[in-house]
Amino acid sequence: MAHRGLFWFRNDLRLADNPALVATAEQVDELVCVYVVDERDFERNRYGFASLGEKRWAFIAASLHALSAQLQARGQRLLVFLGDPVDVVTRLCHEGNIGALGASDWHGYRECQQLAAVQASLPDMRVMTAPGSTLFDAETVDRVAGDVLKGPFTPFFRAMSEQAFRPLAVTPSELPQSRWLPLDDGLPRNPQSVGRWRGGADAGQEHLHSYIHVNQAVHHYARTRNDFSGWDHSSKLSAWLAQGCLSPLQIMRDLDHVEGASAAQESVEKLRYELFWREFFQWHALRSGPRLFHFQGINRRAPLTSYYPQRLKAWCEGDTPYPIVNACIRELRTTGYLSNRGRQLVASCLINELAVDWRYGAAFFEQELIDYDVAVNWGNWQYIAGVGTDPRGGRHFKLREQAQRYDPDGEYVQRWAPNENWGEWTDAVDMVDWPT
Ligand code: FAD
Repeated sequence: MAHRGLFWFRNDLRLADNPALVATAEQVDELVCVYVVDERDFERNRYGFASLGEKRWAFIAASLHALSAQLQARGQRLLVFLGDPVDVVTRLCHEGNIGALGASDWHGYRECQQLAAVQASLPDMRVMTAPGSTLFDAETVDRVAGDVLKGPFTPFFRAMSEQAFRPLAVTPSELPQSRWLPLDDGLPRNPQSVGRWRGGADAGQEHLHSYIHVNQAVHHYARTRNDFSGWDHSSKLSAWLAQGCLSPLQIMRDLDHVEGASAAQESVEKLRYELFWREFFQWHALRSGPRLFHFQGINRRAPLTSYYPQRLKAWCEGDTPYPIVNACIRELRTTGYLSNRGRQLVASCLINELAVDWRYGAAFFEQELIDYDVAVNWGNWQYIAGVGTDPRGGRHFKLREQAQRYDPDGEYVQRWAPNENWGEWTDAVDMVDWPT
């Protein structure tokens, strides 16, 4: 048993169903709770975008306030720092004479590397990790689906849907306090919520409860999930899942209590199925490591795309000859959210119509999405670009047909990109910037 431990909150901003937190708290006399905002995420990355845009940051900041309140109710404090997470956590461990470090597993390559770097610089530290953002643990996935994880989703789904989920962790009613606390922490300002997205575990639980039990909008999920707009047309659980305000297991357990006719049950099954897609991408990211971000993806197959600054700019600004794409991009930039169908169409447009390197699109999404999740975002982009796990080698959506099918009255396009005509892309400059 270590005297003093540090729990490093990352993508698990909740106390309920947080197995790593429970395990760490059980092993120490004193506990320090920490979150580090990586200051580099606000700077432009190699694609020219910030990794963390304003809307997601507002959601995270609100989630930190909510977590801090939950901890305070248990006599604890959340210490929030701005800096390089590896440096900050390592420094705190030294200064606080920390003997045990706890954190939930996070399958992004950078996130794995960060934990490994802290471990390497503190070789005597006891490190406790546990799955917090997945339905299964690594041992089960390795044993049951280790062979099929490199391939497409369906074999993974077939294998894993037969398995029992990991146990739901109890919510700690109290947590050990620490007599040592650093003095240089500070919660960020609590921002206004972004639309209907209110950060934090309680807000996530309220939304889940309302979606499943009060409004019962889950009953029509199968029918409406592909619609372009409508708050209740899909679950809108993604932002809470991405920050770990809710765990996928909490959602699965709640779905067990849905009662109703066969249409409702069909919808529940469809929602479960989508949560399995999320699960698949989490393990796929862990397996892929840095290749999740490679142009050639996991297949080492280079797409026929390049970097065209003018085309990328037009796409990012919602200024293409495709009204449905412009509507989607403008919704995304305004609200931080876009339906799954909208994401597929704009991704397909960037890759197939505009022939732009898919990674710029993924990086733009990373900046703009309120629900950005490293595994799900980059995995989906690879999939559509044909360099990931799609057995059909990529997806090319016919934009006009899709718009007619899913927005038959043109209501969605009219709202976000009114009175625009369809056309074809023509470059105003050639590859070496000469006017065409
Ligand atoms: P629902 O339809 O209600 O689905 C419930 C949950 O299932 C979602 O919250 C999500 O966790 C999961 N899910 C749904 N669709 C998918 C999918 N295609 N792949 C994996 N999991 C899925 N989702 C993110 O959470 N973060 C991202 O960064 C992200 N980037 C994407 C990028 C592209 C190019 C595409 C095509 C999809 C992306 N998605 C991402 C998946 C999906 O679009 C969103 O999860 C979904 O639109 C969120 O809305 P919802 O919670 O109402 O989804």
